[in-house]
Amino acid sequence: GLDPAALQQAALSGHERGLAGQWVLPLQNTTQQPDLSALTDRDTRQALFTRSWMRAERGDTGDTRAAIAELAQLRARKAALLGYPDYASYVLYDQMARTPQAVQHFIAQLVPATLAEQKREVADIAAAISQDGQHFQPRPWDWAHYAEQVRKARYDLDAAQVRPYFELDRVLRDGVFFAANRLYGISFKERRDIPVYNPDVRVFEVTDRDGSPLALVYFDYFKRDNKNGGAWMSNFVGQSHLLGTKPVIYNVANFAKPAPGQPALISFEDVTTMFHEFGHALHGMFADQVYPTLSGTAVARDFVEFPSQFNEHWALDPIVFAHYARHYQTGAAMPQALVDKIKKAARFDQGYALGELIAAAKLDMDWHMLPARAPRQDVDRFEAASLARSGLDTRDVPPRYRSSYFLHIWSNGYAAGYYAYLWTEMLDDAAYSWFRAHGGLTRANGQRFRDMILSRGHTMDYGPMFRAFYGRDPDIVPMLRHRGLVPGEE
Ligand SMILES: [Zn+2]
Repeated sequence: GLDPAALQQAALSGHERGLAGQWVLPLQNTTQQPDLSALTDRDTRQALFTRSWMRAERGDTGDTRAAIAELAQLRARKAALLGYPDYASYVLYDQMARTPQAVQHFIAQLVPATLAEQKREVADIAAAISQDGQHFQPRPWDWAHYAEQVRKARYDLDAAQVRPYFELDRVLRDGVFFAANRLYGISFKERRDIPVYNPDVRVFEVTDRDGSPLALVYFDYFKRDNKNGGAWMSNFVGQSHLLGTKPVIYNVANFAKPAPGQPALISFEDVTTMFHEFGHALHGMFADQVYPTLSGTAVARDFVEFPSQFNEHWALDPIVFAHYARHYQTGAAMPQALVDKIKKAARFDQGYALGELIAAAKLDMDWHMLPARAPRQDVDRFEAASLARSGLDTRDVPPRYRSSYFLHIWSNGYAAGYYAYLWTEMLDDAAYSWFRAHGGLTRANGQRFRDMILSRGHTMDYGPMFRAFYGRDPDIVPMLRHRGLVPGEE
């Protein structure tokens, strides 16, 4: 089932490993593997999945179980030395969630709707299997393959059809800047006299609502061979009243650079990335702090993605979308049928997507809630018990990372922090639902959000900060609606 390009890549991977004439599918860090959606042979799928699931539990030098059992125990002891009941309590004390119990409660709340959605998805997948003339119960190695057939039949979005409506400069000026101007009253002027580190980089001066200078923002959007992958925001200069500095911010991405003279037509995913990174930029620009260590985006891990994910919502806001999504040659608005397809595609396979994240977050929390007096754990038994307690269907939807290859929590600084991705999603969907209920894209709403959230940095507790804006604690309903797990417009 692999296409010629994938086969060629697999042959190259074999060659690189001294296995000339053989094909190798290198494992990605997640449980599910990208090639599983194409592979038509069920035994091959099962073999690839099993290799992934068992990659760090093969009893050889790459087996991580002894190391992580020891790490979990040492972390629990470290927390005890510092006066905390467990490592999660130690990590969470200055986060928005504050306690492991609050995180566990949040995770548990997401389970029922996720399970219900997964049931619907399993039924779709079972139907696709019988349509394929097959008779078996779907297992995790079948999911991506048959989900892809469901997607093609029901959700297919042709990337080539939408790109002409997303011309980068138009998305930036008439989308990203337009929304920021409507919400926050700020305006943008390109500065060609300011030096840049690459000719593709563009600089804009940002002016506040009263005409005073607010910030400089650099955009470095195109892929280069020597650039890191992905997209990010950072500051060249942070805002600080103590140091008398105004923010100088940059957004970086890896969009394909068009041929000279051609327009940069981007995907909707790229559009979303532009709004996301600019959301971080707004958090940095509106910073109003004395101390640089508390300024702008220097906030808790379960809060930092809130302003950026919140800003993504404006990409699909009807007023903003109609303003920027215009055909680069004719200026025509995108046909509604195509807009609907974009919205629908975002809701595909969300029971699976959410379920694998929740399961991983649950594992992370349970590992880091062990008390110092707990004995060293049998990793497989601990994992099975944790997943069973979650109430999730992990037979069909296993965790995105298994304990033995969960790099985020054992070495990447996300210990007792993996839930943060989901937590900030709850915040951004709740905040956007507040905007929708209060008239949407207005200066008054934007000002309120700027005053109560975006300008605050890390100068107050996040719970009271969010409550003051939202009127109550955040809730999961807008998030479930946004993912299409419960009915209703977000
Ligand atoms: Zn981000």
